[in-house]
Amino acid sequence: MKVFLDSVGCRLNQSEIETMARQFRAAGHEIVAEAGEAELSVVNTCSVTAAAAADSRSKIRSAARSGTGEVVATGCWATLVPQHALDLPGVTRVVANDRKDFLVPEILNLVPATFDLEPINREPLPGLRQRTRAFIKVQDGCDNACTFCVTTIARGPGRSRPIPDVLADIRSALDGGTKEVVLTGVHLGSWGREWDTHLSELVKAILSETDTPRLRLSSLEPWDLSPEFFRLWESPRLMPHLHLPLQSGSDTVLKRMLRKTTRESFRELVAAAHAVMPEAALTTDVIAGFPGETEAEFAATLEFVREVGFAGGHVFTYSSRQGTPAARMKNPLPKEIRKHRNAVLRETFAEMGETYRSQFVGRTLPVLWEACAQVNDQGWQMEGLTGNYIRVTATAPGPRWNVVDEVIMLSSTGEGLRGEIRAGGI
Ligand code: SF4
Repeated sequence: MKVFLDSVGCRLNQSEIETMARQFRAAGHEIVAEAGEAELSVVNTCSVTAAAAADSRSKIRSAARSGTGEVVATGCWATLVPQHALDLPGVTRVVANDRKDFLVPEILNLVPATFDLEPINREPLPGLRQRTRAFIKVQDGCDNACTFCVTTIARGPGRSRPIPDVLADIRSALDGGTKEVVLTGVHLGSWGREWDTHLSELVKAILSETDTPRLRLSSLEPWDLSPEFFRLWESPRLMPHLHLPLQSGSDTVLKRMLRKTTRESFRELVAAAHAVMPEAALTTDVIAGFPGETEAEFAATLEFVREVGFAGGHVFTYSSRQGTPAARMKNPLPKEIRKHRNAVLRETFAEMGETYRSQFVGRTLPVLWEACAQVNDQGWQMEGLTGNYIRVTATAPGPRWNVVDEVIMLSSTGEGLRGEIRAGGI
């Protein structure tokens, strides 16, 4: 059977469809790049914002329109509104998040799963979901209750994957040629809590029991980390990039969000991280226009974001999600105010990103090339990522996809840096 896999939203969703690809291939099926070529399409949906939910529906509709045999909807949006998903054209089955690990064996009537994943290396998916770096799922669900968050509702309680399972996935990715592994989860920092251990033990196991050249951690909730955690970055194989969602820089808003952090504790954590890795990239997530957010609270967020000096950030316009406490809160802000605050924050992050990147002009950094396009007979345009999460472009006489080169940073491109591959690399 030919199978098309698609996803919306987070790295965890991407990691899950990559695992489904290995399972389908292990059972003798083929993964194709377009829904129109497939007898079966699986769409891993998202519901973190209204826009993501709409995007999920349109991906399902476009798969059905393309003539694919049947569509299976899974993921957060389909889990929250299964009947709505089942009513969409082409959808023959909805698999909720708590059954997602069994999606492939159930579809193939191979329960319990009789296929052996071991010999099947991770390969980048064909088509638009192709990713050079391997996103490895190590944790799922969340036990927190941030008042704006629908993910904790859709994904259920926190649960961790055992070290041997994670190491097996990483080895299959390395055997498949992966140069960078990205650990991902819903609440990554809570990994191991049910066994009274901590994410740092998993990272140590990966660094000691595999030869992963580049290891990166996805989003980490600030309250899960202690200053000792940053000692892990004494290993040059751990990428100097921390994504710590702040969500708001106002203590009164953080309280209404039920976030277990404050300006002061976040400030101390940043200082501890920079004490170990002063040049590390610190990125974050901020919500613009949370219910009741006053001008003064927004000003506090802007001022705090500038104080921290992030290297970059995602800004989400507050989006009311059904079933969350925030959706029932008083004083929801008008759309134009939420959008305006989003724009102000994006501009602030763009300025800070430029400042952060400019300190690396003239320096040489290793870059993993993730995309390449031929521009003419003599040259290829390369695009890739440094360890500290700077997007870099350069030219090369030939394609250098999935290669790590030493690159001299020449100038700013506005979104990243333009560089030149050092002579030895080409
Ligand atoms: S920590 Fe908060 S924002 Fe993150 S998944 Fe859990 S409830 Fe949602």
